[in-house]
Amino acid sequence: MKSYISIWPPLAKPTPFPRRLAILGSTGSIGTNALRVVAEHRDLFVVTALTAGRNAKLLAEQAGRFRPAVLAVLDDKAARELRLALPAGYAPEILVGPRAYQDIAESADNDLLLSAIVGAAGFPPTLAAARKGKRIALANKESLVIGGGLIRKACRETGAVILPVDSEHNALFQALCGHADRAGAEAGGDELARLILTASGGPFRGRDTEFLARVTPEQALSHPTWSMGAKISIDSASLMNKGLEIIEACHLYGLPVSRVSMLVHPQSIVHSLVEYVDGSQLAHLGVPDMRIPIAHCLCFPRRVRLNMPRLDLAQVGRLTFEAPDEERFPCLRLAKQAFTAGGGRPAVLNAANEAAVMLFLNKRIAFMDIPRLIEGALSRQRSLPDDAGAEELLALDAETRRAVIDCADAGLS
Ligand code: NAD
Ligand code: MG
Repeated sequence: MKSYISIWPPLAKPTPFPRRLAILGSTGSIGTNALRVVAEHRDLFVVTALTAGRNAKLLAEQAGRFRPAVLAVLDDKAARELRLALPAGYAPEILVGPRAYQDIAESADNDLLLSAIVGAAGFPPTLAAARKGKRIALANKESLVIGGGLIRKACRETGAVILPVDSEHNALFQALCGHADRAGAEAGGDELARLILTASGGPFRGRDTEFLARVTPEQALSHPTWSMGAKISIDSASLMNKGLEIIEACHLYGLPVSRVSMLVHPQSIVHSLVEYVDGSQLAHLGVPDMRIPIAHCLCFPRRVRLNMPRLDLAQVGRLTFEAPDEERFPCLRLAKQAFTAGGGRPAVLNAANEAAVMLFLNKRIAFMDIPRLIEGALSRQRSLPDDAGAEELLALDAETRRAVIDCADAGLS
């Protein structure tokens, strides 16, 4: 596994301020939090582009405030709604369709891209930005799960930089700063022992299999510590989010799965830890608010003041930790197996998970059918060569989704 140096941010030259920022997925949970950071620091950014899938109303509101020259939505209906909702006297260019996100990602008009679309739809624009040598604040972890090898290769070739927005990976990034030149396997050093990702455990921590078999989407959507979009909330409940994050960490920091472990920490105050060979563990702590990692990436290496309650450890009182239960939450094991197997397995894992989460949200399958359908897809779908291109990975993604939906319709797993 060789990736460490190529996407290690401290080696890159910082972009000057004000930064020309494009946000893919600005109407989502990450996107709206990012715009709150931008609103607090208007002098540091020029917003060049904002995009949504179909939420034209919120996109129009955001655009009216931040006045980017370019907007994008997924279809003509959303584009019509968007045009009608924009303030008079402001006429941005409106791009429509899946290719639009890629065009924005590649555009010379931005020097910083926040990749915050949810799911596999975020992969093509993220790869496109990496191929153009961009600085990418990456929230869309699915991109690395599907095509981490391709993204790393693009970063190595173009000098593109990935700054991890995901709170755990951002915590690791912060705990690795100052050790970057010596910790990475690719740098020939071996001072990094392992990474420890923390997980809240989700809303069903400690629940038995009988309970898990009957949970509803409403229960699964109510996360105890973080407020997030629907898909990642279900992933947090099934622990697939942590499975995807283990793969994300392996790609970002160039380590095998055996050197990335996980710790359940229900208070979500310690966001992850780095263990060095001398036994030191460096942790990053903070209130569970995504504006912290978002601002860290958008402003890196500068730190900016954020208007939010400060962490008061005396008030928190107790921080607790426990080992994860991989028996009751099989998604963790499936993700690790898929990454170790390679050959497009992580893309199958991701596509099967996205399809199964949609089916669960639409009340067509039960919660524990999610891992069952993923396991079925992993055993049935074809493999790809390790050097497969993006088109092949996306074709496998589409095939897997169809197969999972067919299985669910047929009552199989
Ligand atoms: P969300 O569902 O709240 O928002 C998703 C955004 O993507 C919206 O703007 C939506 O309009 C857009 N979108 C959806 N489908 C699209 C498509 N097919 N094409 C183009 N745009 C589309 O999601 P979120 O919770 O903000 O998560 C975004 C990404 O960040 C995910 O990959 C998630 O795993 C990751 N992430 C989120 C959090 C969090 O706290 N929410 C934390 C860490 C990582
Ligand atoms: Mg996370």
